[in-house]
This record gives sequence, C-alpha cells and structure tokens, in this order.
Amino acid sequence: MSVLNPNQHGNEDAALIEKVNNLLPQTQCGQCGFSGCQPYAVAIVKKQAEINQCPPGGEEGIHDLAKLLNKPFKRLNPEHGEHKPEQVAFIIEEDCIGCVKCLAVCPVDAIVGAAKYMHTVIAAECTGCELCIAPCPVDCIIMQPISVHQYHHTKHDKASLAKRRFDARNERKQIEAHTAELLRQHKKKALISASKE
Ligand code: SF4
Ligand code: SF4
Ligand code: SF4
Repeated sequence: MSVLNPNQHGNEDAALIEKVNNLLPQTQCGQCGFSGCQPYAVAIVKKQAEINQCPPGGEEGIHDLAKLLNKPFKRLNPEHGEHKPEQVAFIIEEDCIGCVKCLAVCPVDAIVGAAKYMHTVIAAECTGCELCIAPCPVDCIIMQPISVHQYHHTKHDKASLAKRRFDARNERKQIEAHTAELLRQHKKKALISASKE
C-alpha cells in the first residue's frame, strides 16, 4: 500500500509528497521512470526527478505541478512518451485463452476472469496504463478511446478511484503474501512433527 511514512521523509516532505501525489493521475503506468505515481512524487520532492515526466497527466498536470512547486512550466520530456487521448483496454474475448497473465499485472484489478476462461476489462475502472498489453501471449488486448459516457468523470474523480483501487490491490496482495507465509510455516511445522513421530 502506498502509505507515506513521515519518519522516512520528514513531516514537511511527507505532506508535500502527498500533495504532489494527489496531482498525479494514478495511472501507475511507470512511464515517468518510477514504479508508480507515489515513488515519482517522492522523487520530485527529493529533487531527483523533473515535473515533466508523466505523459498521462497531460500538459494540465505539468502546469498543476509547476504551480504547486513554484517552478516554471516545462513541456513533457519526450523520452517518457507522449500525451494521448484517454483510453481503456479491451479484450477480444473470442481470442482470449484464459492464461491470466493480464490479471497479474493490472495495477487496479480492472480485469475479471479465471484460469482457462475468457477475461474482460471493466472499462470504468481501467486507467489505460497499457501494462496488460505486453504480457498477453495471443495479442488479444487492444486499447480503445474512452466512450463519450465515460467523460463525466473529472480528472480528480478518476485519479481518486484509481488510487483507491491501487491501494486495495496492494492491501490484498499483502494479505495473500502473509497468508501464504503462514501456510508455509504451518506445513513446515507439520512436516517437522511428522518426522519426529
Ligand atoms: S501516471 Fe504518471 S506519475 Fe503515475 S506512474 Fe504513470 S507516468 Fe508515473
Ligand atoms: S486493464 Fe490493462 S490498461 Fe486497464 S488498468 Fe488494467 S493493466 Fe492497465
Ligand atoms: S493475457 Fe490475453 S489471453 Fe491471457 S487471459 Fe489476458 S487477455 Fe486472455
């Protein structure tokens, strides 16, 4: 879960990191060169990254960061990609082989499906990060422009939803890892006691 640790960053830095993170689109695509929006926010505040490295944020996002940090506006650094219209992933279901590889990488759990069954993208929850495209072994995931009815979400609403889903996914993964570790320890203990009998 992307929790800011005041002890790690100092109270002032932690507060500013949170403000910067709140301006980022929470697409979690990694195009900025960091593993997600919050690590990029940390790097900006620590002066280890420029404010013009986030393609999904658009020019508006760079303006917002420049204003918050009292810095001059800079156009997007093309090394990090290009601004694109909003898009969502779409799975060509008849081609899907149910390998679940896309499920594993989606940062906001926007794909539903089970092993050997076709998968579907919940368009309203997809951030358009494109992270699911490369792992698909049969190239059945394509990106599509978002439909008109989805434009009623403000940029802030979309980012808040994506952040909530990203945090929930990280929490779920932590619980799964913890449960797997408990099971591993339980099995180990059972094997040791069985070997003593
Ligand atoms: S949305 Fe922007 S800040 Fe977040 S991971 Fe992608 S490029 Fe980085
Ligand atoms: S469905 Fe694909 S494009 Fe959409 S959020 Fe998940 S990984 Fe990103
Ligand atoms: S990676 Fe492609 S083939 Fe595999 S479950 Fe996802 S959409 Fe289907």
